[in-house]
Amino acid sequence: MAGFRALPSVDQVLLSDMGRTLIDRHGRTAVTGALRLRLDAARAAIRDGADGGVEAARLPHLLAADLAVAAQTRLRPMLNLTGTVLHTNLGRAILADAAIAAASAAMAAPLALEFDLDTGGRGQRDDHLRGLLRELTGAEDATIVNNNAAAVLIALNTFGQGRQAIVSRGELIEIGGAFRMPDIMARAGARLVEVGTTNRTHPRDYQDAITPDTGLILKVHTSNYRIEGFTAEVPAPQLARIAQDAGVVLLNDLGAGSLVDLAAYGLKREPTVAEAVAEGADLVTFSGDKLLGGPQAGFVVGRRDLIARINGNPMKRALRLDKIRISALEATLRLYRDPDRLAERLPVLRYLSRPQADIAVQATRLAPQVAALLPDFAVTATDCASQIGSGSLPTDTIPSAGLRLTGAGGDAPDRLAARLRGLPCPVVGHIRDGALILDLRTLDRDDDLLDALRA
Ligand SMILES: *Cc1c(COP(=O)(O)O)cnc(C)c1O
Repeated sequence: MAGFRALPSVDQVLLSDMGRTLIDRHGRTAVTGALRLRLDAARAAIRDGADGGVEAARLPHLLAADLAVAAQTRLRPMLNLTGTVLHTNLGRAILADAAIAAASAAMAAPLALEFDLDTGGRGQRDDHLRGLLRELTGAEDATIVNNNAAAVLIALNTFGQGRQAIVSRGELIEIGGAFRMPDIMARAGARLVEVGTTNRTHPRDYQDAITPDTGLILKVHTSNYRIEGFTAEVPAPQLARIAQDAGVVLLNDLGAGSLVDLAAYGLKREPTVAEAVAEGADLVTFSGDKLLGGPQAGFVVGRRDLIARINGNPMKRALRLDKIRISALEATLRLYRDPDRLAERLPVLRYLSRPQADIAVQATRLAPQVAALLPDFAVTATDCASQIGSGSLPTDTIPSAGLRLTGAGGDAPDRLAARLRGLPCPVVGHIRDGALILDLRTLDRDDDLLDALRA
């Protein structure tokens, strides 16, 4: 039985044909590192009684496999068939082609980000979006930051630092992770004044709480949960009058903040940004990568004098956007100027407005083809329910269709889910009633799924 001597040296491997091929592909440093680890493991195995010749023969395959795994990024494109269109953990909105092209162009070349092409003087990066945002929301002015959490933070800090910020107890929400309204307020330096109760808040609750120390009233769109039954909230127009009479700022945090009426696309209504502005909020905050369908960003739109104060806050510099996202946002917002073709061009809206009948046809067509690729599992077309995601209308589902995959054994759905996650193009669905469901609402082409499964 062969021992340690059967193993090649590091140099022998690096100088071999296979070694040179691997170095071409992965670089010398990576190959040397992976090879050392493999040789250590082979020596340990031989010490434990393994045959040196067998270990030496296995070495090239194992090394190539190690390097292939290490070279594969975990940020590779995947298929989101979870049924949640705006999946925060999967990166939210898929961008429109125009936005992708604009972002790519911005990455590859200098552009007039803060440069006035007419005068050759200094420009402002937000200027590229201000006009569009004014036009699409009816607001006087706009400022743009890293995400909506940042939009809320900078607005609270600008108008509430060292002062009181009044919020209804029914709106002290947690968005998820570390974004809880009371915590954000504390970090913004605002003293939280809670008014009303969990289920009911009245105009006088706000009026009684206002003091000379009040900086702002915050209204939060409770997009991610719903209180039903014996409830009361103060409508935004009435709250705007209360704030105006008291001379304090009313900030309405919309969260998803659609720029179009979703009812026109067969969905349940969400308040639009233009409505929130028209209702009299001094400032409205919303996300770039939720219903708007763009890259991660946060907007504050509203009164010009207040936006100027936000722009004067040193935090703005820390929260500003880069040229790539500003370019993608500009291209995304431009699409809204042509509402007739918006659903065609903006993936988020295209997915959300896809009729169930259309998806069901796709499911019926795909079921036998997918079954042929997964012989251990039974595959049938099924009805299912999608949702918007990112905290929008969580209790409202959208009728959809997909594939239902089942197999032998209680752990079959988990096993199958793990297998699909391990594909070169990972596929994720959701498990329900002992089956893995692949919701096809967000599947653009049949081949996207078939090619992923073939790999
Ligand atoms: C999602 C959400 C936020 C946070 O927005 P991000 O873009 O995720 O930073 C804040 N407020 C509300 C009401 C939200 O729904």
